[in-house]
Amino acid sequence: MTEAQLKKQEVELSPPKREIELHNQRLEAYLEELDFENLSPEEILSWASATFANRAILETSFQYTGVAMIHMVAAHQLDLRIATLDTLRLPPETYQFIDQVKARYNCQVEVCKPDSTQIDSMTERFGEYLFFDSKALQEYCCQVRKERPHNELIKTADCWISGVRRDQSSFRRDTTSKASLVLEYGSRRKILKLNPMAAWNEEQLLEYIKTNDIPTHPLYAQGYPSIGCVICSTPTLPGEEKRAGRWRWFNNNNQADSDDKKECGLHVPGQLYNI
Ligand code: SF4
Repeated sequence: MTEAQLKKQEVELSPPKREIELHNQRLEAYLEELDFENLSPEEILSWASATFANRAILETSFQYTGVAMIHMVAAHQLDLRIATLDTLRLPPETYQFIDQVKARYNCQVEVCKPDSTQIDSMTERFGEYLFFDSKALQEYCCQVRKERPHNELIKTADCWISGVRRDQSSFRRDTTSKASLVLEYGSRRKILKLNPMAAWNEEQLLEYIKTNDIPTHPLYAQGYPSIGCVICSTPTLPGEEKRAGRWRWFNNNNQADSDDKKECGLHVPGQLYNI
């Protein structure tokens, strides 16, 4: 759409709707104009910093990719916010590691927590360990503890940067692009989701981490290839996919689809706000 057409549309639409439509069109134009697939992680992060500044959030759970990207942000002095979701069920090692990373990179980390009233209501009704009882209750717990705080966080952003990689599971291999649009929950407003590390495999990542002396989460050394909440994350066995240790009790039983995605919902296209 030309600048003149955009201006005409600006006059015709009511102010809030006009603002959202223009915002969405700008994000759509980025997807058309830029070949994200052929950009390196550093190039994508640098572009996001220059384009969105504090309207771009690097959201991380402090696993390999997230910390590697924090390293890139520090090395290139990029102007990106860094945020994490504290589900209030993270292992103690994660809290200690967050402090270690903050000290190493002298960076601020926004910590997003679930709503305490919603947590109380959920646990009073279904118990603290509801995630054992059914796939639906596990997803409900993830919704209250992860997705809703995440939704609140990305209301403050135009660009959401995630550490998802294609080699993490067969589901992620088939569904992860380096750049896509998602909808803000309950709104028509779109958000640019970037996965700068999507194409890296673990070998490349570990080489980058070693070369740059990047700190790593201590639970990797205990056999956890994927680290989330305590209990719901477990070590994996040789030959298992990296996310096989998530909600292990649903593996190979009838409570989950045979094609269980091993996802909490944040990265599932078509679910909730994803488009
Ligand atoms: S990973 Fe487990 S404890 Fe954490 S939010 Fe999901 S179901 Fe709840």
